[in-house]
Amino acid sequence: MQQTGREPMTAAGKKRVLSGITATGRLHIGNYIGAINQWADNQSEYENFLFVADLHALTIPEAVAGKNLRARVEEIFALYLACGIDPEQSTLFVQSDVAEHAELTWLLTCVTPVSWLERMTQFKTKGKVADVDAGVGAGLLCYPALQAADILLYDPDLVPVGEDQKQHVEITRDISQRFNAMYGETFKLPDVMIPKSGGRIMGLDDPTAKMSKSTAEKSPGHAIGLLDPIGQARKSIMRAVTDSKSGVDFSDELAPGVTNLLTIFECFTGTTRDESRERFDGAGYGVLKGAVADAVTERLGDIQRRYHDIADDRTHLNKLLTQGAERARNLAADKLSQAYRAAGLR
Ligand code: ATP
Ligand code: MG
Repeated sequence: MQQTGREPMTAAGKKRVLSGITATGRLHIGNYIGAINQWADNQSEYENFLFVADLHALTIPEAVAGKNLRARVEEIFALYLACGIDPEQSTLFVQSDVAEHAELTWLLTCVTPVSWLERMTQFKTKGKVADVDAGVGAGLLCYPALQAADILLYDPDLVPVGEDQKQHVEITRDISQRFNAMYGETFKLPDVMIPKSGGRIMGLDDPTAKMSKSTAEKSPGHAIGLLDPIGQARKSIMRAVTDSKSGVDFSDELAPGVTNLLTIFECFTGTTRDESRERFDGAGYGVLKGAVADAVTERLGDIQRRYHDIADDRTHLNKLLTQGAERARNLAADKLSQAYRAAGLR
């Protein structure tokens, strides 16, 4: 893939990675397996820039209306820390604390053809014709420009995303190329990094639908929240949808709900499918669910203990929020100035 190659790696020789989670709801085990835990595992290998995407949450009004958004954002930030992200190793920040994201978005919006935005799958699925007629905000259409700004401000080498998000990194590359072609070389082209496994944990109530924050807000029993009371988490797992058989039968095709439980078990215990086969073939679903519940609740217990220590120390948390935003701004402000100069505004 083409790269501008101006800043191929950081001074420490590490590749720079940028990633974030939208503050559309409370974090669940899918976010942990597919994103946060991988960031924690990778943090000594990469130079991570990790953020809480609060500006993106505003594109989904039902996710934010009547909610204390800042409290939710700080909960997510504290959860990053509780899940093992080290704020010394990684730059951790809240998107709206770094105003350069919103500023660069305007420059990028102006070079992005409307037809590119209308083609985005997420707009086509979330911004249904009925919603558009009902007055859905233009942010839902334009947010790929904000996402491009989030990425391009930091010159990352890699952007880790699930399969469903690949199109967003591709449009970022297209927007970057278009800006560079119009105004001269300014932005680097990032590459996609697809997680090794656990990229798609499914809903416990409906194993054909991806576990997601926004669905979890409406359907109890859909997800396991990282801050769910332990008893509730266990109950949701014990009630997970499987099929009408009584137990795990590896000689036949496994139902999606069973595969999902096995994936969750393997991600939380670091075991393989072969090891699962060995352990669970012929076991009743109650046994499988009990094992999943033990593995998940043990980890949730650790995360929640750390979370409460972090969240209770407001002074320290505020210091980390400020420090992270300053570190991010150091890079973002330089890149924004370059973009303003390129566009002839400075
Ligand atoms: P929303 O309902 O608002 O889309 P979400 O739960 O899908 O929320 P995102 O903010 O879209 O979460 O994604 C945050 C990160 O978590 C991304 O890296 C995404 O790939 C990962 N992620 C989200 N859901 C899952 C899942 N079910 N399994 C694995 N990874 C997931
Ligand atoms: Mg999502």
